[in-house]
Amino acid sequence: MIYLDNSATTRPFDEVAEAVNICLRENYFNPSSAYTPAVELERKLEHYRTLLAQAMGVSPGEVIYTSGATESNNLAILGTQNVKRAKGQLITTKVEHPSVYEVFRSMQERGYEVTYLDVDNTGKVRLDQLEQALNASVSLVSIMQVNNETGAINDINHAYALIRRRAPQAIFHVDGVQAFCKMPFARLSCDAYSISGHKFHAMKGVGALYIRSGVPFGGGFIGGGQENGLRSGTTNAPGIIAMGEALNKYRRNQAAYVERMRQCKYKLAANLKQIGDVVFNGPSLEEGAPHILNASFLGVRGETLLNALSQRNIIVSTGSACSAHKKGKNRVLCAMGTDEAAQESAIRFSFSPENTVQEMDAAAQTIQETVAQLRQYKKR
Ligand code: PLP
Repeated sequence: MIYLDNSATTRPFDEVAEAVNICLRENYFNPSSAYTPAVELERKLEHYRTLLAQAMGVSPGEVIYTSGATESNNLAILGTQNVKRAKGQLITTKVEHPSVYEVFRSMQERGYEVTYLDVDNTGKVRLDQLEQALNASVSLVSIMQVNNETGAINDINHAYALIRRRAPQAIFHVDGVQAFCKMPFARLSCDAYSISGHKFHAMKGVGALYIRSGVPFGGGFIGGGQENGLRSGTTNAPGIIAMGEALNKYRRNQAAYVERMRQCKYKLAANLKQIGDVVFNGPSLEEGAPHILNASFLGVRGETLLNALSQRNIIVSTGSACSAHKKGKNRVLCAMGTDEAAQESAIRFSFSPENTVQEMDAAAQTIQETVAQLRQYKKR
């Protein structure tokens, strides 16, 4: 199988699976318990929290473990608003993941005023619009760092500078799911940042939220008071160990991993260009994230191609969300102004350091044959 759906999820690294196995079999204690093995386990989880904080350039006390980025995003948005009495204005973008976008839509239904920023034709958020929308009554801005469908990268530093200048009271949340580990580790310029373990070879059901200390934050689940009282629930020790081990491996190898993904992307793109009637959606190859390539094979429905390829052991995706709830339309590509023919035939390829350049030749060969067959079939 050639697996090219790494933005949906990744295969846990072998070291991760091994560490989780040991945790499940031997180290299954509740880290909140008082006996020695549980206390040792808790110490280990705190060590991983420190590593996570180092990778983000923040302090460990500002990192909350969660069940994944859907929770982190919900928590960041709702947890910072449930402490405020006045309903401030909210700003987000038209291309956010549903775990951000739909939260804003539900808040809008509850009477909040929400501005949805446009993107340009490469998928980058219009920061000129952000600048215009910022004012003294904005309470929250949420912008993703890397788009999960196109790989477009937003200039978070610039956005933060604008927010600090024009709306210093506003909280700036960044969905960093597709950026974390794939972009150089650097001190975060935002007030809240979401990540998800299964996107970087840890496992599903674990993630984290950075919340800058001093930000008014009401937290999430109420219960036993775990995570400093901000997110109750028995600590997911295997998940946290998985995330820590995956991060460790990424930190040791990041340059090589990023280079490998970029090589795969360039190679596949070069091969696909030979097919004819293929258009690429999103930023230029050089400008986009190293691990995401979105291409339309005109005249072939994306879903049909996805299914035909999966029969031939090539795993890809058509992109995640549907537009303003209209079936068949892609909200992200729509926002970029992509024409309907290209939207319907779009396929997202996403890479991991475990892919090889040889796979890109084999995948392209199969894609070329499959597309030719499907186009032929359509003509009949
Ligand atoms: N945000 C982005 C940009 C994503 O790509 C995803 C997953 O597809 C999520 C959030 C949700 O992450 P999780 O699967 O951890 O809930």
